[in-house]
Amino acid sequence: MIEKKVLRELYSRLGKEKVFSDREYMLAYSYDATAMEYWPDAVVFPTREEDIAEVLRICSERRVPLIPRGAGVGYSGGALAVQGGVVLVFTRMNRILRLDAANFLAEVEPGVITADLQAAAEKRGLFYPPDPASLKTSTIGGNVAENAGGPRCFKYGVTGNYVLGLEAYLFSGEKIRLGARTIKNVAGYDLKSLLIGSEGTLAVISKVLLRLLPLPPLRRLFWVDFATLATGAQFVQKVIHGHIQPAVLEFMDRRSLQAVYAYQRMPLSEKTGAAVLVEIDGSPAEVAEREMVLGKIIESSGPVGWTQAQTLAEQEALWQTRRNISPAIALLKPRKINEDIVVPAALIPEMVSFIEALAAEHELCIVLFGHFGDGNIHTNLMVDPADNDEMKRAEIVLDKLFRRVVELGGTISGEHGIGLSKKPFMHYQFSPVELELFRRIKAVFDPDNLLNPGKMF
Ligand SMILES: Cc1cc2nc3c(=O)[nH]c(=O)nc-3n(C[C@H](O)[C@H](O)[C@H](O)COP(=O)(O)OP(=O)(O)OC[C@H]3O[C@@H](n4cnc5c(N)ncnc54)[C@H](O)[C@@H]3O)c2cc1C
Repeated sequence: MIEKKVLRELYSRLGKEKVFSDREYMLAYSYDATAMEYWPDAVVFPTREEDIAEVLRICSERRVPLIPRGAGVGYSGGALAVQGGVVLVFTRMNRILRLDAANFLAEVEPGVITADLQAAAEKRGLFYPPDPASLKTSTIGGNVAENAGGPRCFKYGVTGNYVLGLEAYLFSGEKIRLGARTIKNVAGYDLKSLLIGSEGTLAVISKVLLRLLPLPPLRRLFWVDFATLATGAQFVQKVIHGHIQPAVLEFMDRRSLQAVYAYQRMPLSEKTGAAVLVEIDGSPAEVAEREMVLGKIIESSGPVGWTQAQTLAEQEALWQTRRNISPAIALLKPRKINEDIVVPAALIPEMVSFIEALAAEHELCIVLFGHFGDGNIHTNLMVDPADNDEMKRAEIVLDKLFRRVVELGGTISGEHGIGLSKKPFMHYQFSPVELELFRRIKAVFDPDNLLNPGKMF
């Protein structure tokens, strides 16, 4: 619990319209997209850089934990105030400061919503590719702090591939400017990349300089149904090796389809055991060529049905179905243990069979979907926390799952980050020496461990 005089100082320096400590606000900012809940002591909404510097000055002088937060739709508990303190919410710092078409650059405040930046860029014929399924809510600051991915990252790369520069504040209140307005830049240690994916534990991001691309003139979206998970997974491999550079290669198993069709009140064919969403893009000539090759791959893969979106509205409807999977499966059981493992793409069929065998052996409901093009398998263990036996079986399954992922050369998190939820599993991927190095890096940035404490390791 922070002292009353700290609250008084926050109120007096920032004003009542930016600082809140009443129960309603504490509850609203006590959770994210995980099932965890930790109450902060105060919530502050900065509207300009000076506010950030002021809050940091107060928190560092008074030794109060500070937790940066965007939209709070993180999947690993990164924005939760595990030790109380002040949550700094960036949703009011949401201005696109500059869209520089000549240099393909965007300069934004951290609270800009991902989809808003994409829409503003598209109006100028520009393209910001990273597209987490939460893009209509998540913020650029949260995306950078988690190094968020998404469907189009298969072809275009993750958020970090688009960050050219960052402005940020250390917990001490000192400001740093990292990166440059250029694609090439090898001067000094790459601290910008260290901050990308650092989950708000090293510095508070106050401005982001992003690289944009020219908007691809054409996009085509296909939805292909398969009888079994295995035939769907084999199709994914064929598309990867088909020389058509798909922008998106998303996979959904029967359970995700059942859940999302029920959620949308649509009937699902008995024949459908899995589905794959494929998007191709490029110039008209490139798209025509890729469409022809993809058509042949589909025909030779024995689908039970397929459709191509004919209009923008149809494209959006297919995307919405894909994006509804997360909320739809959350209704299957009281709790969703949501893992986002990644294995090298060629090993997906092996990993999927392994998970299916685990589910059968331990009698657990596991739902699989995700960005199979880049090997990112969202593995959702659907459990009831009141069922002790089921929770124990889930623990065993997680242990086997992570061990296998690391054996196959993969990673325990592709895009959701470690935060609180994956913290107990870091030792599967990192040795004690490596974890100690993380701790020492954290101590250089934040010696008193007050910036987003208790996360990652
Ligand atoms: C339905 C659904 C679908 C999703 N799909 C995807 C997906 O496809 N791909 C994907 O990658 N993720 C996905 N996510 C996870 C989530 O949306 C991303 O992690 C996103 O980047 C979180 O953004 P946010 O603004 O909500 O950040 P928050 O949840 O508020 O914060 C996340 C982390 O960022 C830190 N942070 C936030 N702002 C700053 C800042 N200014 N400076 C320093 N640190 C900061 C926080 O401290 C925290 O550690 C999904 C989530 C949901 C609920």
